[in-house]
Amino acid sequence: MSLIKKNKLKLALMWVLLTSVLLVIVALLPVGDKVDSKAAIKAVPKVATALTYEAELPLYDANTQGETVTESTVASIAKELAKSYPKTINYVIQKGDTLGGIFETLGLSQTSLYQILEVDLNVLALDSIKPGQTLIFTEFEGLLTRLELQISLAHQVVYTSSGDNGFEFEQVTLEGEWREHSYIGKVEYSFAGSAKKAGLSLYEAQFIASLLKDKINFSRDLRIGDTFKVLVSRQYIGEERTGENRIEAVSINNRSRNISAYLYEGTYYDEAGLSIERAFVRRPVSSKYRISSSFNPRRLHPVTGLLRPHNGTDFATPIGTPVLATGDGVVSRVINHKYAGLYIEISNGQTYSTRFLHLSKALVKKGQRVKRGQKIALSGNTGRTTGAHLHYELHLRGRAVNAMTADIPIATAIDKKKQAAFKLALSNYHAAWDELKS
Ligand SMILES: [Zn+2]
Repeated sequence: MSLIKKNKLKLALMWVLLTSVLLVIVALLPVGDKVDSKAAIKAVPKVATALTYEAELPLYDANTQGETVTESTVASIAKELAKSYPKTINYVIQKGDTLGGIFETLGLSQTSLYQILEVDLNVLALDSIKPGQTLIFTEFEGLLTRLELQISLAHQVVYTSSGDNGFEFEQVTLEGEWREHSYIGKVEYSFAGSAKKAGLSLYEAQFIASLLKDKINFSRDLRIGDTFKVLVSRQYIGEERTGENRIEAVSINNRSRNISAYLYEGTYYDEAGLSIERAFVRRPVSSKYRISSSFNPRRLHPVTGLLRPHNGTDFATPIGTPVLATGDGVVSRVINHKYAGLYIEISNGQTYSTRFLHLSKALVKKGQRVKRGQKIALSGNTGRTTGAHLHYELHLRGRAVNAMTADIPIATAIDKKKQAAFKLALSNYHAAWDELKS
């Protein structure tokens, strides 16, 4: 049985139960006795909770207060309840699901779907939903009032209805607690296999291999008996891991040479303080085009006053202006969106991704490798715009940051003034590993 059918069945069962509970309450009362109907209603949510149905009890001003309660009154209360409680439906996204399909199956209106997609233009979170993520729908009197997308334990996007003006959205990010874990291992077979044996995840092993790919060929250069040390920070909410992690430092002894990478102010450096990652450029277009709108997470809609964060930087470019990749990467999407227009997303390694909106023409395909400075598209005026421009976004671990000011690998070496601080960070990393050995 599909999840939705199960949910529907659950809801139906629940209301049958609720009604019978109310009937039982009445049956237990002496006939003709005055009943505090508020008390009877208050007993309801407990039953509901047990059935995993979450209902918020609104202030209920029962007209029946002080009257003699009969079966028909109770039945009408139950009917009222069914109408006036917000219903919550948890939907776990399945492979092959589309948002439109989910709305249709749940019987939710196309109007609310479009209102949500319109505000989602500012984050495009619903454009990249993945199987396993959860959507929590709250419906009140047949209308969708709230939608929550749970990307991870630490990252949610919440869309809330503000009546006729459509929806507002809010990104909820929990800092949680980052805990450090050190690992020491020996190469016995493949790096991924040896890293897994030492306690690292496959994702972390892949991250290391991609980070150091210019320094060492993991399949050709690595030898049995080589050793490695890794320091990982993992995010926790309470005792649960969110799935977000950060490789802080890695050091590999490959025969007689040492290859290492240390995270410092958002960039990986080697032991000597030289940047390991290919640097980014700040701007995706020539410097002659001015910024027409800056990154602003607190922007308000001029008419409705609703929060409409501007998660990117706009450049005043006429249609047909060459758009350049700001860093090396792989094209992860080329999409035509109702509001974002034709847009391209590039995955720049495992930490960063970049987006280019309102394009007139894409010059790359999904899956294609691109180099920093490569012409990837022509700017345009597609989707919802007030004029031709390029909207450019930089994301750090899935969250938009100000591309013009963020700590990104721009420098090729540690600044002379920061050498001492960098040395100190390095010795802290080494101390964490030494602790593990003793
Ligand atoms: Zn913009």
